[in-house]
Amino acid sequence: MLEFDRRHLWHPYTSAVDPLPAYPVVSAAGCRIRLADGRELVDGMSSWWCAIHGYNHPALNHAVTTQLGQMAHVMFGGFTHEPAVGLARRLLAITPGELQRVFFCDSGSVAVEVAIKMALQYQAATGRPGRRRLLTLRGGYHGDTFGAMAVCDPVNGMHEHFAGVLAQHLFAPRPRSRFGAALGSGDIGSFEALIGAHAGELAAVILEPIVQGAGGMWFYSADYLRAVAALCRRHDVLLIADEIATGFGRTGRLFACEHAGVAPDILCVGKALTGGYLSLAATLATDQVAEGISAAGGVLMHGPTFMANPLATAVACRSIDLLLEGPWRERVAGLEAGLAAGLAPFAAHPAVADVRVLGAIGVVETHQPVPVAGLQRRFVDAGAWIRPFGRLIYLMPPYVIEPAELAVLTAAIGRGLDLLG
Ligand SMILES: *Cc1c(COP(=O)(O)O)cnc(C)c1O
Repeated sequence: MLEFDRRHLWHPYTSAVDPLPAYPVVSAAGCRIRLADGRELVDGMSSWWCAIHGYNHPALNHAVTTQLGQMAHVMFGGFTHEPAVGLARRLLAITPGELQRVFFCDSGSVAVEVAIKMALQYQAATGRPGRRRLLTLRGGYHGDTFGAMAVCDPVNGMHEHFAGVLAQHLFAPRPRSRFGAALGSGDIGSFEALIGAHAGELAAVILEPIVQGAGGMWFYSADYLRAVAALCRRHDVLLIADEIATGFGRTGRLFACEHAGVAPDILCVGKALTGGYLSLAATLATDQVAEGISAAGGVLMHGPTFMANPLATAVACRSIDLLLEGPWRERVAGLEAGLAAGLAPFAAHPAVADVRVLGAIGVVETHQPVPVAGLQRRFVDAGAWIRPFGRLIYLMPPYVIEPAELAVLTAAIGRGLDLLG
């Protein structure tokens, strides 16, 4: 199997001829992932922010199998169903601000594409066809499709591979002010200058509120986010919040916008939406945006084949209920304390540049890029599933992880750092 995999299957961001190793996995339950050779790993990644309740959860399994007995899928053009309506109700009830409209799609990247389309169509339909560009922050990540790539960080993103093809957007410097600190002097200046100079050609600002994820795992000041939102209002530019990574409690609030009391015009959710069961995302918008697009008979030009898939929307409903029924705030707060205590000693390690924790996210930033394959083997040998990238070793475990399991993860990072000397 491994040989066929190496020879024929593409894995994320890796060479087709000399791929990073892939570990065969046979099952997962709770916070444990079982490898084909019988070893069990404690999960430090939630499968890229998704599996917030852990794996093989009885309630989520039940939601899928119950829905499976009804229908696995039916087209959303001309039909509607209870799982989709129920999920929209839940999302509108828990998301920040005045969002009233829900568009379901397959993945986070597509949700970002839809958000960008909404902003462009809104501006054109409301008499400002010249507003075709986006303003965003350096260090951001919004997905791998073309519209999304164009607003990822221009240096550590994928711009160099697609030069001349991506839309040309505007980039403000990454916020310097850390989360928990006030806005540093001059930190918002470049953003303010950019939005002021280009307002007439800007459809929207798009950003990840508070936590920049795959672009560098950076946590920035709520004051900065508040200042951005105020500038968007002043210049009549839409604000798109990409909460695909931060949504559903990961940062200690249900949505990261809440840290700043900011109400976006458009919001993207994905990743943890189904508790890690199926691929599903959504783009939410205000009535103002939706009604603007549909003024004079306009329609939003998007319609995925698997839109609002019943299995995915049904398990998403259950996942949200499970989250809200449980003590998620206490769990995430407990994880924050556990991560802070477990990772703090590494700040003094010579290979380490910074240690930071927010909610259920813990980050060890190194001075040099890490050897991913070697480090990962070290982690696996220590019983931990941790996937570093670049200069970042980070943890975002399922919320239900036990202290003893968290200790396995932080100890594994310690052993990994020893490898870096
Ligand atoms: C993962 C991610 C995306 C892309 O989602 P996919 O489901 O991988 O397409 C977009 N934005 C943010 C902030 C993400 O973390």
